[in-house]
Amino acid sequence: MGIESAALPNGVLLTTVEKLVNWSRKASFWPATFGLACCAIEMMATGAARYDLARFGMEVFRASPRQADLMIVAGRVSQKMAPVLRQIYDQMPEPRWVLSMGVCASSGGMFNNYAIVQGVDHIVPVDMYLPGCPPRPEMLIDAILKLHEKVMAEPIDARRAKTVAAGKQPIV
Ligand code: SF4
Repeated sequence: MGIESAALPNGVLLTTVEKLVNWSRKASFWPATFGLACCAIEMMATGAARYDLARFGMEVFRASPRQADLMIVAGRVSQKMAPVLRQIYDQMPEPRWVLSMGVCASSGGMFNNYAIVQGVDHIVPVDMYLPGCPPRPEMLIDAILKLHEKVMAEPIDARRAKTVAAGKQPIV
């Protein structure tokens, strides 16, 4: 048995483990319960029976950021909410992902004023941008599936390495 394993080409075992880990990560996203404005209504609809987000392993929206690995920023981010959003992100363990839902979250949208952050990527790193006002549940599901593809293509320790490179202590 050991001799057969040793005969495998270099990297075969590691690649398989990486695929398995990434598959389990993308197939069990637990989003933080985090609705900010009207886009959150569409996010809630996506989780309900008609669109059935549970098909993709996402039936559990977590109230605690420590149990969540996906932040769906659903709606415009006010300047007052920005530090709260950042704190919630910091409390989420690695690996974690951010999906910016709707034009307001991604760029401020129609709220081009002093009260609204002009893109949530000023506050947290964003992995997936979803346009629309509001994006329909089908669009949110499509963005999540694209995020799945991104997760499958990532080295498994890439997130942790990025956090360490930024001089932060990873929560794992
Ligand atoms: Fe509301 Fe449209 Fe902005 Fe979403 S993108 S928060 S639906 S105004």
